[in-house]
Amino acid sequence: MLILRGQKVSEGIAIGPATVLTALEVKVKEAFVPPEKVEAELKRLRRALDRTARDIRDSLDSQSDAVGEVRQIIETSLQFLGDEYLIGSIESRIRTKHFTAPYAVSDAIHEMAARLQAIDNPTFSSKVADMIDIEHRLLNHLVGGGVGQLPKLERQQIVIADDITPAQATSLDREKVLGFATERGSWASHTAVLARGYRLPAVVAVAGLTEAARLGAMVVIDGHEGLVIIDPDEDTLAHYRALRRRRKRRTNVSSQMRTLSAETQDGERVKLLANIETRADVPGVLEAGGEGVGLFRTEFLFLGTARDLGEEEQFDVYRSAAEALEGRPLTIRTIDVGADKFDGRHGNQREPNPFMGERAIRVSFRKEEFFRTQLRAIMRAAAHGNVRMMFPMIMDLGELRRARAIVERARRELEESGKVHEPDLPIGTMIELPSAALNAERIAKEADFFSIGTNDLTQYTLGVDRTNHRVADRYATHHPSVLRLIKMIVDAGRARRRTVSICGEIAGDPVFTALLVGLGVREFSMAPSFIPEVKRTLRGLFVSHCVQIAERALKAVDAADVEGLLALRRR
Ligand code: PEP
Ligand code: MG
Repeated sequence: MLILRGQKVSEGIAIGPATVLTALEVKVKEAFVPPEKVEAELKRLRRALDRTARDIRDSLDSQSDAVGEVRQIIETSLQFLGDEYLIGSIESRIRTKHFTAPYAVSDAIHEMAARLQAIDNPTFSSKVADMIDIEHRLLNHLVGGGVGQLPKLERQQIVIADDITPAQATSLDREKVLGFATERGSWASHTAVLARGYRLPAVVAVAGLTEAARLGAMVVIDGHEGLVIIDPDEDTLAHYRALRRRRKRRTNVSSQMRTLSAETQDGERVKLLANIETRADVPGVLEAGGEGVGLFRTEFLFLGTARDLGEEEQFDVYRSAAEALEGRPLTIRTIDVGADKFDGRHGNQREPNPFMGERAIRVSFRKEEFFRTQLRAIMRAAAHGNVRMMFPMIMDLGELRRARAIVERARRELEESGKVHEPDLPIGTMIELPSAALNAERIAKEADFFSIGTNDLTQYTLGVDRTNHRVADRYATHHPSVLRLIKMIVDAGRARRRTVSICGEIAGDPVFTALLVGLGVREFSMAPSFIPEVKRTLRGLFVSHCVQIAERALKAVDAADVEGLLALRRR
C-alpha cells in the first residue's frame, strides 16, 4: 500500500482500478513548405481554425447542462482561437519561415506555453494546459484524428495522469470515470474547476503519482483529505468503502430530506446553510436542501491567480451566485488569505508563525485599495439578491469599526460613480478569535450578525495549530473551553437580537448537533454534502434534552469528558 498526498480539489471518495494515461505531449516533426505553397498552407491553417472553433461550439451545445464555470472554460478555449497574437505568430511562421501549418502551430504554442510556465505561477501553468489543448485540437484537423485524445474507457475506472487538459476533462465519459488524480495541476486549474462542476472526486499535484501507479492497480481517491492510495490493504479498503457508503447514504438521505423542514421534534426551527468556495458550488447547495450560503470563502477566487480579480469580475461571480440562490441568503466573507492559505502574493512574506501573523482582515487593512474593490463588488451584487457581508478574524470592536469605515468609503465611491448598489446590506463578522469572543457583547452592538468560526476559535483557544498533525489529537472543538466561548458568543448575540451562525467544521458533524442546539445555535453553515445528515439528526432532537447535554458539557473537565458524555447519550 502506498499513500500519496496531493492537493484536494474536489470532494468525495472514489475506489476502483486505475487507468494510467501516459504523457500526452505531441511531437510534431520540423517540416517546411516551398514558397509557392505558403498561401495554400495558410488556407489550410484557417480551415483548421474554423473547424476547431466549430468543434468547441458543438461541445458547448452538448454540455447544455454544464454549470456556469464549466461553460466558461469551454468558452475560454474559443477565446484562445481568436487570440490575435497567437494566430499572428502561427501565420508569420508559415509566411516568413515557411513552416508547415502543423509545425507552425506546435512551435508557436509551445513557445508561448514555455513563457507562461517560466512565470512559476499556478494560474499561468493552468493556462498552459488550455493552450496544449488548442494545439491538440488544431493538429487533429491538420494531421488527422486522435492527437492528445484520451483512450476510450471500457469500464468504470480512476484516471491517473501527469496532467489532464480541460478539453480532455470535458471529453471524459462521466459514466465511466470514478474520479481522477494528476501529478501536476492546481486548485485553481480549469481541470480542477471542472472536477468540482462534475462532482468527481479529484486530487492534483501528487508528487510521484505516475511513477507509482500501474494500469489496473486498485486505487482510492480521498477527495476530502487530498490522498491517493495505491494498492490499499484490506482494512483501508474496508474503511473507505464504509465512508463511501456513508456518503451514498447521505445522497439518499438528501433526496428524502430535501423538502422537509429543518426543525426539532418539538418544533424549534433551525436554519441549515452551506459553506462554498466557488460560484460552481451553488447548485450543490440547492440540491442538498441548503437554505442559502452562510459562508462564501472568497479567497479561493484569488489564490494562485496571476492577478487579482477586478471589481467587474468579482461582481459577476457574486451577482451570479446571489441570483442562483433566488432570494436565499448569500454571506460573502471578505478575503481570508495568509496562514495556510498562502500564495506568496498580496505582499505577504512567509512568516515565522503564520497563523498568528498577517492574515484575513489584517491583509485587507494593509491593502485598502484592494479591499475597497471587493467591498464595492459585494455591495453591487447585493442589489441583485439577498447578500450579507462578513469580515474574517476581527479582534475587537475597534477593528469592526475600522472595517465599517472602509465600507463607508467604498459606498461613497459607488455613489459617485453612479453604479447600482445596495448600501444597507447586513454587515456581520466572524467570531473566531478568543479576543472577539470575550468582546462579543460590545461587538454585537455594531455587527448585524455573528458567524462563529470554530476552526480557528479552537486553534487559538487551545493553542493547537489546526494544520499540525503532531498536535492533531489535541485539536477538539468540543473542548469545554471552546464550548464556553461559543455559549458566550451566542448569549451576547441573542441579547441584541443578532443572528448567530456557526460555520466551522463542527457544524456539519451530526454527533455535535444536539450539543450546539443546546448551546443556543439556531443557524448552521457547513459543506453542502453534510446538510441532509445534520437535518435528519436535528429532526430527532428535543431542545430540552439538548440543553441538558450542553449544560453538562460546559461543566466537563476536558474534551474526552465531553466525548464520554456524547457517547453515553448515543448508547
Ligand atoms: C473557521 O475558522 O471556523 C472558518 C469557518 O473559517 P476558515 O475555516 O475559512 O478559516
Ligand atoms: Mg477561520
